[in-house]
Amino acid sequence: MITINLAEIPFDGMRLVGKTDRDIFDLPETERDARPAGPVHYDLHISEAGSGLMLAMGSLRVTFTLRCVACLEEFPHTIEWDDYAAEFDLPASGVLDLTERIREDLLLELPDYPHCDRDSDDPDRVCPAAGKFDGSAAAAGDGPSVWEALDRLPKPRE
Ligand SMILES: [Zn+2]
Repeated sequence: MITINLAEIPFDGMRLVGKTDRDIFDLPETERDARPAGPVHYDLHISEAGSGLMLAMGSLRVTFTLRCVACLEEFPHTIEWDDYAAEFDLPASGVLDLTERIREDLLLELPDYPHCDRDSDDPDRVCPAAGKFDGSAAAAGDGPSVWEALDRLPKPRE
């Protein structure tokens, strides 16, 4: 849980640094194609934004294990969010709970159709399934060159 007691926040705001000690994502079994591989690290500056709002700005970092839609292999995908900012309503309870908002914001950052060659933390990763669907890619690649070839044909004289 990422919570802060409003009474502890000085006038000019305060820094909230730490990591979650449990899985805040709690994804259902049907969504096991994405699961957290560690805690959420946060380094946020919490301040009052006026009009009954609190402002949290800073950085978030979490690593997920995703499953590639092409090769079905799992791979690590780290979200490093250095300019995170979110507004929160002043809670009546006096305790601001950032957990649910941060959870949802991070989940929205995950790719809808993870590809291990594009989304992996390893930039050199080559998807083992790459090349199995080269038919369409090759055809698309041929498109422009066909037109270029036509352009090079001598124009008919009039
Ligand atoms: Zn893959």
